[in-house]
Amino acid sequence: MMNWLRRFMMGRYGADQLSFALLILYFVLTLVSQTIRWPYLMLIALLPIAWCFFRMLSRNVQKRYAENLVFLKFWNPVKGWFSRHFGRMRDKTHRYYRCPQCSQQLRVPKGRGKIEISCPKCHTKFIKKT
Ligand SMILES: [Zn+2]
Repeated sequence: MMNWLRRFMMGRYGADQLSFALLILYFVLTLVSQTIRWPYLMLIALLPIAWCFFRMLSRNVQKRYAENLVFLKFWNPVKGWFSRHFGRMRDKTHRYYRCPQCSQQLRVPKGRGKIEISCPKCHTKFIKKT
């Protein structure tokens, strides 16, 4: 079975981040269509899953690779924003400020009262309550 699958997948592109995102999109759309009871959304959900399988089985590796790069160009900033945002929420011991001069992000320990913060990038000093 595995041998057959390996032979079948030879020279084909396989899975990547874009295919994984399409798979997630398929599950989300299916879930939403069941929640709002709008069956047409189920048909729309077939588009990303069809594209996902088409990409995995595609022999045009270069083109699929280029597609994934385009996807990552949009996805990485989004992912970065989320991980920064949720990392900040998890961080109970620090406060986050932006330098008023150069908008560099600064991390300051909480609970120190009023302190003078100096920006490591442009050396602007400003007072904040932590
Ligand atoms: Zn600064």
